[in-house]
Formats: sequence, C-alpha cells, structure tokens
Amino acid sequence: MTMNSVSVKQVTFGKQPAIVIAGPCSIESEEHIFKEAQALKAAGVDMIRAGAYKPRTSPHAFQGLGFEGVKYLRAAADSVHLPMVTEVLSEYDVEKLIDLVDMFQVGSRNMYNYQLLKLLGQAGKPVLLKRGFSATLKEWEMSGQYLMSEGKASVVYCERGIRSFQDETRNTLDLAGAILLQAKTKQPVVIDPSHASGRRDLILPLSKAALAADISGIMVEVHHNPDQAWTDAAQTIDYSMLDQLMKECQPWLTSN
Ligand code: PEP
Ligand code: MN
Repeated sequence: MTMNSVSVKQVTFGKQPAIVIAGPCSIESEEHIFKEAQALKAAGVDMIRAGAYKPRTSPHAFQGLGFEGVKYLRAAADSVHLPMVTEVLSEYDVEKLIDLVDMFQVGSRNMYNYQLLKLLGQAGKPVLLKRGFSATLKEWEMSGQYLMSEGKASVVYCERGIRSFQDETRNTLDLAGAILLQAKTKQPVVIDPSHASGRRDLILPLSKAALAADISGIMVEVHHNPDQAWTDAAQTIDYSMLDQLMKECQPWLTSN
C-alpha cells in the first residue's frame, strides 16, 4: 500500500520502519524532562512526547506546567537530538507555541474543536490528531480533513481507545478502526496503547498487535518511576518494560 508520509524533522511516519513515540504523560519539572529525554534516547525511541497543557477530568487536578513546560521539553528534546510532540489545548496558544514545537498534538477532547483544527491547518506544522473517545471513524477522518484542507498541515492519526461497555480497561482499542482509517485515507495511523488500555501490562501485547497489522507507529507513556508519575501512573511503563518492548517489536522497528 502506498501511503502519504509525514515528516517531523528526521522522523518519517508512513514508511518502514514503524515509529516509536514515547515519554511521560506530563512534564513535571525541567530536571524531570531532561532525565526522561536522556533515557528515551538511550532506549532508541524516535520521538519524545510529554504534556504541558493537560486536559484533566477534574479542575482540581494538576493542569500541567503550561508554557514553561513546553520550553523545558524543547530544550530537553534538543539536548538529545530527538523531535518532540506536545498537546495544544486551546487556539489561544497556537501562535505562542508554533516556533517551539515540532508537532502539535490535538487531544481526544479537542477532536471536534473545528476552530482549533482550522487554525492548526494554517499553522504549517505536522499534527498528531487523536481520536475523540466517542467519535466515529468518519468524524475522525473529517477532523483530519479540517486540518489538511487548509493546505499546510500534514496529519498523523492516533487511535487512543474509545468508550465501550467494557470496564476492565480504561478504553477499548479500536484496532480494526485504526487499520481501516489508514487504508482509506492513506495517512499514517499510530496507536496509543497507554490511553487505550489504562494498564501497563497491556502496552506490549497491544503494541505488537498493531505493528503486526502494519500500523505506522505507537505512542507510549514512559516514566523513570511510573508509580510516582503525576498523571496516568497506572498506564505508564518503566524503562525496563520499554527495553523489552523495543526488543520484542524489533521486526517492525528496523527497515527490511
Ligand atoms: C495524552 O496523550 O496525554 C492525552 C491527554 O491523551 P488523550 O487526549 O488521548 O486523552
Ligand atoms: Mn496521559
């Protein structure tokens, strides 16, 4: 299948090999993100993820470090020569962040925010578009078109789990939907097994399943001390689990 490729600095989505994006759910401090960046580089991941604007269910929960956090992430990513992706929550922040980020992440809760999508479509940076947790494939596809029809944005879709009656996992990974969307749009689709499952013991098998199905990459939450992570601790893996994942996924992470 010929796919449209999306480049973020030296990383290309939509070609072999598949791409691994990894990092903590949240940037906790400057020192924290530098430490994670070094370990992520040593583990051999392609790109760093970390959130500074956090869309939390409770307004009383940690909301992220905001603009300062993005500056720390920028410097940490540069220190190890890896590109980074971070979420932009509001259209008010696009201009402020445009020169700092390599790729914008649109979160699940914002997939229907058409004003934000239009603005990002004009901004000219690649976008990682997460699926709304109750969005149909068609709605998700159309949100990608909002971005691309402005002519300047390239889009990587990210399946992060949808709501279902199944309550043993945080969400339900719609692998079939991810495969279908990639085949239909020819845009790269990656999966986020962390938010899709909410459980660190499912990250490895879900990653392998997706990569075996020719999904273009994975995005996983990693932390030096996952149980102490400020956000999403239960679904965050440590570096020994990341090493195992990189080893077991090797067939898809090297070109052949
Ligand atoms: C995240 O990636 O940390 C995140 C908040 O994801 P989602 O928008 O999929 O909930
Ligand atoms: Mn998270």
